[in-house]
Amino acid sequence: MRVQALAEALISRASITPDDAGCQALIAERLAQCGFRAEHLRFGETDNLWITRGSGAPVLALVGHTDVVPPGPLEQWSSAPFEPDVRDGKLYGRGAADMKASIAAMVCAAEEFVAAMPDHTGTLALLLTSDEEGPARDGIQAVMPWLKERGIAIDYALIGEPSSSTRLGDRVRIGRRGSMHGYLTVKGIQGHVAYPELARNPIHQAAPALAQLAATQFDQGNAHFPPTSFQIYEVRAGTGANNVIPGELFVNFNFRYGTASTEASLRAQVESILDAFGLEYELRFRVSSEPFLTVSATLIDAVQAAIQSELGIATVLDTGGGTSDGRFIAPTGAEVVELGPINASIHKIDEHVAVADLEPLARTYRQVIERLLG
Ligand SMILES: [Zn+2]
Repeated sequence: MRVQALAEALISRASITPDDAGCQALIAERLAQCGFRAEHLRFGETDNLWITRGSGAPVLALVGHTDVVPPGPLEQWSSAPFEPDVRDGKLYGRGAADMKASIAAMVCAAEEFVAAMPDHTGTLALLLTSDEEGPARDGIQAVMPWLKERGIAIDYALIGEPSSSTRLGDRVRIGRRGSMHGYLTVKGIQGHVAYPELARNPIHQAAPALAQLAATQFDQGNAHFPPTSFQIYEVRAGTGANNVIPGELFVNFNFRYGTASTEASLRAQVESILDAFGLEYELRFRVSSEPFLTVSATLIDAVQAAIQSELGIATVLDTGGGTSDGRFIAPTGAEVVELGPINASIHKIDEHVAVADLEPLARTYRQVIERLLG
């Protein structure tokens, strides 16, 4: 019941990204009572909380975000999104699964761990941000350099993102694919549609190259990641007039890629296809996140063992889904694993979490903490 009560208190704070709406103050107040020291870090519009107990290595950080996505049309919700409601064993509210249940479970796990082991080894930290669902610039990405300046290195990061598929703990994430955008401008020569010999149509020129790009398999994937996916998501051309061949065509596309490719290898493949079709073009890329993968075993072993012992199942190590704040933590050398509730309803109308999963999730987190700092 302790986890549920805290989850409800967090859900009732309407923390639409990047507004924290008092969630972090509530958590800091709770944890101060068992010896945690808080650093409230406000960058831009974003509230971040770094709160620790103990000292030295290893540093285990429980990581999460207090912000939520907007609820969408209120009239479609069966109960108000920021008024927690329990029906048929499910706790409903925006952020219930992504990720206020996890945060509540982490806080309760931390409290119970330090009550049982007040002289634990190393440092137990919670790292929370209110900018994960938004641009994510003033959140964990900004906190990591702040930690580095103070000589603090996270050894293990357990992120509470909802990783589970059909049963609590059936999946944990040990990495995420990277994401890279491409912005292509194909140059033609504008002219009258009745005089094509005086123009050069960039749509006609680009079409076979785009078909080739769409049909290309950029890599085969590897043991940890599926093959790279390439998706064109925007194509624009035309002047608005129906008798003008446009002078330019704009194409935006995205790669989701694992460690079987690199940014450079993907760029080179795109350019060689465009060149093979003789296009005149400008091409710009932006990496929004690099792929990451935890292979060292300490944190993974602790999480697998805790799930086996508390939840009675063998979890699957997975790298699916979109990006997460793990992308900012992993490059510092930390081991990163994501474990949280079932993700079927996240970002949807009537988001919910199973009440019966709340205490087991907290017990599993507590066991991970005990295995690393006990
Ligand atoms: Zn989330």
